[in-house]
This record gives sequence, C-alpha cells and structure tokens, in this order.
Amino acid sequence: MNVDSELEDGAVGGWNAPVQKQTFLKLLLNNSAVAALTVVIFYLSLVITSAPMRAEDRETIERAVQLLEARGFEQEVFLLRRAATFRSSDNWLNLLVDKENAYAATNFPLGTITVYPDFFTKADDDTERAMVLLHEAQHLKGANEPEAYEFVWRSRRQLGWTTLSHGTTPTYTTIELQTREYNPQMFTCPAKLWDDCTENLETQRQAKR
Ligand SMILES: [Zn+2]
Repeated sequence: MNVDSELEDGAVGGWNAPVQKQTFLKLLLNNSAVAALTVVIFYLSLVITSAPMRAEDRETIERAVQLLEARGFEQEVFLLRRAATFRSSDNWLNLLVDKENAYAATNFPLGTITVYPDFFTKADDDTERAMVLLHEAQHLKGANEPEAYEFVWRSRRQLGWTTLSHGTTPTYTTIELQTREYNPQMFTCPAKLWDDCTENLETQRQAKR
C-alpha cells in the first residue's frame, strides 16, 4: 500500500489529519522507545558481564582524572566523570574484538571503559595513567585509534609526559611505538630528534651530537 492509497483509505475510513498525526507520533514514540530500550539493554549487558572496580582502584583512577583536570583537559575530565562507567574486566563485547593495548578499552558510544592491570602496574605513575585516560576519553568523543594516539602524542607537554620526564619508561616506549604505527606521518621530520615532528627541545640534543 502506497502513501496515496493510505491517505485515501484514511479518508474513507474517517481518518483526518489530527488522527494521522497522532498515529505517526505514536509510531515514532514506539520506535524511539524500542530504540532506547535496546540501547539500555545493550549497555546493561556490558555492565553485567564485567566486574566492577575495587574501591582502591577507583581512587587511583580519580587521582589520574584530577591530574588531567589540573593540566586543563576540561572536556575529557567532564566525559570521564559524567559519561564513563569504569569496569575491571572484559565485557562480552570486548572478548569478541582485538584490543589495541593492555591498559584500557572503551566501548563507544556506551561509555564503558575497561581498565586492565597494566594501567595500575605497568604505568609508571599517575601521569602515565592520566595519559591512558586521555586516550580513552578521545574514544568517548568518538575518535578512532589514529586520532586518539595523535591527540595524546601532541598533548604530551600539556600533560607533563615528555621525553625528558618519562622517555625511558616501558609505557612511554610502548605508546611511542604504537603512535608511530598508527600515525607514521607524524614522524617524518629528519631535523627533529627521532624524526618526531612534535618534538622541540630535542634540536638542542641534535646540536650536541
Ligand atoms: Zn584506543
């Protein structure tokens, strides 16, 4: 039945514009309700199939968020505090996909962030944990992997996580390698140390060679 015949049927059957409008509105509301319910069920399934954070781990996460706040990452802090649900083990969805690192994983757009043991043990300090959360916050905004890695790498100085302060930690080395893999175009500046176009103080080091 096409739209015309529907309208015609409506006229015969006593339909009028307000009734049609009501029916359309009802259909729209029903569909919206079904969609909203589906999202809620999906979200709950992610939460139910994963474990909550322990209180002391929550405190560690909060310290890292506070560090981001002190460094001026307001948007990210807002999202991490208002739109994220932190969990300590994989939900069913995480088990189906490859994880790109062992620190944390975010389910966009539902905002569940699974925090793995490396976040607490491999990360050297709260600054490195803040770096991980800064990355996950990009996913909360809808960023893909290259975008999340690029944002963090370009934010190193603002974060206080630089070659000088953390350049030798396992986490710094790991994230640098992953950033190079995802964003090789950021490492094409021969005049900069290690070809990293985002470095600046290292020209001095180059000069000392
Ligand atoms: Zn990521």
